[in-house]
Amino acid sequence: MKMNPEVAEALNAQINAELQASYTYLSMAAYFDSVALPGFAAWFRSQSLEENEHAMRIYDFVVKREGRVVLEGNSKPKESYNTPETAIAAALEMEQGVTAQINALFALAKEHDDYSAQHMLNWFLDEQIEEEDVFATVLDKARAADGNRWFLLELDKELGAERPLPSPDDA
Ligand code: MG
Repeated sequence: MKMNPEVAEALNAQINAELQASYTYLSMAAYFDSVALPGFAAWFRSQSLEENEHAMRIYDFVVKREGRVVLEGNSKPKESYNTPETAIAAALEMEQGVTAQINALFALAKEHDDYSAQHMLNWFLDEQIEEEDVFATVLDKARAADGNRWFLLELDKELGAERPLPSPDDA
C-alpha cells in the first residue's frame, strides 16, 4: 500500500536526520582524534556508521513502499568542543532530539493508520532507549574523570576496546 504523503515526507526527513547524525558523529570522532583520544574517536566513528545504518533502514522501507527518497544535504557539524564532556553531552542531547522525532513520526503513522510504518518504527523506539542509555553512561564516566587526563586515557582505552576500528584487512 502506498504511503500517505505526509507520512512519506516525514520518513524522508528522518532519513536525512539520521544521515546528519552520522555526519555529526564523524565530526566528533575527528575532534577526539585531534585531542589524542583515539578510543573515543573509534567509538564515535562506530556511532557514525550506526547512524548510517539507521538511515538505510528507513530508506529501504520507503523504497519498498514505493516512496521516493530525496537527499537534502548535510549541514556543517560543530567542529570543536571545549572538553570531551561537552562533546558527549551534545551527543546525548542530539539523541534525545532523535527520540522526540521518532515519537512524532510514530504518532503521525498512527494518525494515518499506517501499521507497517508503526511496526518498522518500533525498532527505533527500542533503539533510542539504548542510545540514550549508552550516551548517558559514557557522559557519567567522562564527568567522573573531571578533566583528569589520566582518567580520560583510561576511559579512552575502555571505549576503544568496546568499539575497535575495523582493520583495513577485514574488508
Ligand atoms: Mg539513529
